[in-house]
Amino acid sequence: VAGADEEITSFSREMPWQVLGQWRNSFIIAGSAEELIIIDQHVAHERVLYEEYLNQLAAGDVPRQKLLVPINVELTPAQMLLLEKIEGRFEDNGFEIEPFGPRSVVVKAVPAVASRCEADQLLFEILERIENAPDDYSVEEVHRRTAAGLSCRAAVKMNTPLTQAKMEHLVNMLLATEEPTTCPHGRPVVLKLGIRELEKSFKRI
Ligand SMILES: [Zn+2]
Repeated sequence: VAGADEEITSFSREMPWQVLGQWRNSFIIAGSAEELIIIDQHVAHERVLYEEYLNQLAAGDVPRQKLLVPINVELTPAQMLLLEKIEGRFEDNGFEIEPFGPRSVVVKAVPAVASRCEADQLLFEILERIENAPDDYSVEEVHRRTAAGLSCRAAVKMNTPLTQAKMEHLVNMLLATEEPTTCPHGRPVVLKLGIRELEKSFKRI
């Protein structure tokens, strides 16, 4: 079963790829000498940011972006409890969060990779993902879930027009990731059509 899926969701990274265009402001079409691929721009960017942030965490050096205006975020009691519980594991992750009364926190800085996100939405997204983790979660698990939530928030959305230069940059960054074919949640990033299949379909071979 995996074989058939892999066939259309994997592609050769060694080949030079040419970005041919964007379709529906959501998908990037690219071609090599042998293959044509359709890239989901949101999940592709998610994969890039996910690995970038995890690498920063692993290196213990996550660049921060100070907020010009610190943001007061109201949390539910469950979220407050969760934040306390994971505090140690949440350290050094690029956020600067201070308690502010019994039901809210002040966010003073966010990881630079997510500097364009709304800080409150970013925090909610990450807490939600950690909330669903098993109770015995490790530091690594908190890191992975933080990275997944953060990259989903910060990644370019569907229905976003991209310039040729931006698409080329994204494709090059995707090709440089460890796992360019799946997003952090295991969804495929690309669909592929090989020259053989095309020729067969056109009854050329
Ligand atoms: Zn996403």
